[in-house]
Parts: sequence; structure tokens; C-alpha cells
Amino acid sequence: MNIVLLGAPGSGKGTMAQKLAVELNIPQISTGDIFRKNLREETPLGIQIKNIMASGQLVPDEITIEIVKNRLAEPDCANGYILDGFPRSIVQAQALDTFQNIDIAVNLDVDEEAIVARLSGRRFCPDCNGTFHVNTLNGANVCPACGGKLIVREDDTEATVRNRLAVYNKTTLPLVEYYTEQGKIATVDGNGSIAEVYARVISLLKK
Ligand code: AMP
Repeated sequence: MNIVLLGAPGSGKGTMAQKLAVELNIPQISTGDIFRKNLREETPLGIQIKNIMASGQLVPDEITIEIVKNRLAEPDCANGYILDGFPRSIVQAQALDTFQNIDIAVNLDVDEEAIVARLSGRRFCPDCNGTFHVNTLNGANVCPACGGKLIVREDDTEATVRNRLAVYNKTTLPLVEYYTEQGKIATVDGNGSIAEVYARVISLLKK
């Protein structure tokens, strides 16, 4: 199954994608994780996109599309994949339709106050790409999944979060309409605990 996860920053796409990847045995393709890896390794791409990411803007479509196109052509994607954070613009979605067949776009719908609360307490593990919330860490600063050192993502600061939400509303939200017109949208209530939201997502996909 070729799945697109849609939703605002902090809606839980990454968390849901990681869990789905294990249960469905298909890869999670996160453009954000790919870009962060390039930043950490200071590759030419990483250097090029550093300021764009730090300010919460989108990496140019042509760069992003090329990366995803190549990644989806790899053998581990042959039986399906979960796209987490791509497409993020109509141009990206149209490009994706030229080289892949998407089965379903799952839209995680979360209240804006909940999103701000989630992002402001978010901790990220650069070793396993896990995302956690301070409320569940009991003061610990190590990743519960792999033991790596947790960090605050550079783009989770308040000003950048506001900018990312504005970019989402303007450029990414129109994708809900795009996939609705294709009859592929499935909106899920993304409020509540990870277990509650995941149960909704998996029951929808099993239908
Ligand atoms: P994420 O981890 O999905 O929140 O993405 C973090 C950042 O990576 C975004 O704020 C963008 O700067 C960049 N990014 C991730 N995915 C895309 C995409 N599909 N198109 C453009 N920029 C992206």
C-alpha cells in the first residue's frame, strides 16, 4: 500500500509513520529526516538547506521531488511505503502522481492549541529519529527507544513553529482538497494519545 500522511507540523505524522512501518513492514520515507541527516553530515545539500530549514520554510520543490523520486525507486519501496512530510505542496503532489500511484492520503486532524503544546514540549532523537514529549520522559534526556541523547529540534522554537504553521496553512493544507478530489482522502481525528490515534489510523487502513 502506498500511503501519504498529511497533517500540520506536530500532528503526529512521524510517530504514526514509524508505528505503521513496523506493523505493515513497509518503509517510512520522511523528507524531514532525510534533510536533517544531510544537515548533520554537512553535505552540499545540507549546507544549501540549513537556513531554509532553520526558518521553517520549505526546501525548493525541484530538490525535494528529485530526492523522493530516487528514494521511491529503491527496492524496499516495491511493496509500498509511508510518505511522511511529502508532498507538502500542490506542485509536489502533481509530480508524485507522474511517477507513483498513491492509494490513500491519511489526514491527521489536530486542534491548533494541541499542536503548539506538542511542538513546544517535543524532544527528538537524532540516532533513531524518534519523537517524544517531555510529559512522558519523566525528566530523562535519553531516548526511551535507543538510548540516544535527545535534543530540541532547531525548528521547534516558538518563532519557527509559528512560521511552519503559516507555511502549512498556505502551501500544504490545499493538499486535503487535492486528494479529496481524487477520492483518496481519509481524515482521522489526531487528538488524543498516541495509542488512541494509532488505533483509529490502523482500523481505517484495514478497512
Ligand atoms: P518535518 O520533519 O517533516 O517537520 O520537516 C522539517 C523541515 O524539513 C520542514 O520545515 C522543511 O524545511 C523541510 N521539509 C521536509 N519535507 C519537505 C517537503 N516535502 N518539501 C519541502 N521542505 C520539506
